[in-house]
Amino acid sequence: MDFKFPPPITQPEVKCTQIFINNEFRNSVNGKTFPTINPTTGEVICQVQEGGKADIDVAVAAARKAFELGSPWRRMDASDRGRLIIKFSDLLERDAVYIGSLETLDNGKPFKDAFLTVFAAVKMLRYFAGLADKNVGQTIPVDGDYFTYTRHEPVGVCGSIIPWNFPIVMWALKFAPAIATGNVVVIKPAEQTPLTALYLAALTKEAGFPPGVVNVVPGFGPTAGAALSEHMDVDKIAFTGSTDVGKIIQIASGKSNLKNVTLELGGKSPNIIMDDVNLDEAVEMAHFALFFNMGQVCIAGSRTYVHEKIYDEFVKKATARAQKRVVGSPWDKETESGPQIDQTQMEKILELIESGKKEGAKLQTGGVRKGDKGYFIESTVFSDVTDNMRIAREEIFGPVQQIIKFKDIDEVIKRANDSSYGLAAAVFTKDLDKAIKVSNGLQAGTVWVNTYHALHTQAPFGGYKMSGIGREFGTYGLQQYTQVKTVTMKISEKNS
Ligand code: ADP
Repeated sequence: MDFKFPPPITQPEVKCTQIFINNEFRNSVNGKTFPTINPTTGEVICQVQEGGKADIDVAVAAARKAFELGSPWRRMDASDRGRLIIKFSDLLERDAVYIGSLETLDNGKPFKDAFLTVFAAVKMLRYFAGLADKNVGQTIPVDGDYFTYTRHEPVGVCGSIIPWNFPIVMWALKFAPAIATGNVVVIKPAEQTPLTALYLAALTKEAGFPPGVVNVVPGFGPTAGAALSEHMDVDKIAFTGSTDVGKIIQIASGKSNLKNVTLELGGKSPNIIMDDVNLDEAVEMAHFALFFNMGQVCIAGSRTYVHEKIYDEFVKKATARAQKRVVGSPWDKETESGPQIDQTQMEKILELIESGKKEGAKLQTGGVRKGDKGYFIESTVFSDVTDNMRIAREEIFGPVQQIIKFKDIDEVIKRANDSSYGLAAAVFTKDLDKAIKVSNGLQAGTVWVNTYHALHTQAPFGGYKMSGIGREFGTYGLQQYTQVKTVTMKISEKNS
């Protein structure tokens, strides 16, 4: 797609701040609200209704009712479900400037990036809309006088717990495959970024989804999120967030009703740069791999392994590139990085930077907060990083690049795999043999060769090891929202 970037609405009106259940906005049962903060200024944007256990109960009951056998939703043709998703995607496109602006206000990402995420969501919605009536089962030639076929049935009430780093895309990614396959959803957006999630809820009503099919309950993780994952009447949780919370959700599922769980969790992705690369291109891609979205990306290329032959030159160029990065107001056209999401994240990142300095890594640039308003951090580069430093092992989720030296290919594969994570990885080389050897050897759900962040709606995405369970995107992602029923009929006489 060829994008034109219109100017943002720098003071977007906040239209939706309540809980969305049964196609209606309402206040929380206990009357609580919480503030959502503008990370660019640190100021409160507005109060949002705070969903808790009681609200989750109401939302789940509404979803369950919408999912009853014989309901308008269950009786709807699959092609019409697809049509509704398309209609919804058209509304996102219609309001892209407003939605992108609201995202920049609440999340702090540069407007250009926010605007693009609306279109990423639109693509995702249209892809899954097209699959709605192609979710076919099989007829199976079993032994004996029987007729056997499978149905790919919806799982039921799907809880979606989503993070704050890509609120619109995450919303669409949890919604589209669930709805395409006939499920109903209760979405809990992250407490840091509830605003676009609630506006999208309003658009589902405008698109014409029946009441109860889509419910959105803003609130906090340990209350609303926990209530959803512990709920006896929720059939599935799709979660994106930290590995620690992923474990809590898995336990909650086991302790309650063994609900189906898919998890997309943290990462510490290796990005391996061989000595045969075009250095300038590799530096630029490694910079993008780490600094995109202020480093707040689960697949960030946060362990940059560089071959010793080109190491010093790479560090010099990577430092110069980081110093050139424009960090500032997300409303400005030239801005490449806005603020981090909140004070907690900013402090966590600054603490990890301190640990890097203490443990002997060499701070090449950055390393401090930028300004004293909002949650900005200067683009930071560490060289002389070794594998056991905290900055090489822990997910930083911030604009901090670690450049690590390696000598040979077998050694680097081993070191790259020495992590509890396994989300993504990349290798840069002109040598096809090396590219294949490294990509086969890496323990990661996604491997890129000579590129980074190349995720596509059509191709599966998910984690090895403690980076997750299950896959999203593509037809693999669709499967996670269906359960297979085998129907076998006795018949009088089977003929081949
Ligand atoms: P981050 O550390 O990046 O904020 P989290 O994993 O804490 O990531 O949050 C991702 C999502 O998980 C958010 O919607 C948050 O509210 C939710 N969450 C946090 N704690 C819990 C919990 N105990 N149970 C369920 N959901 C939770």
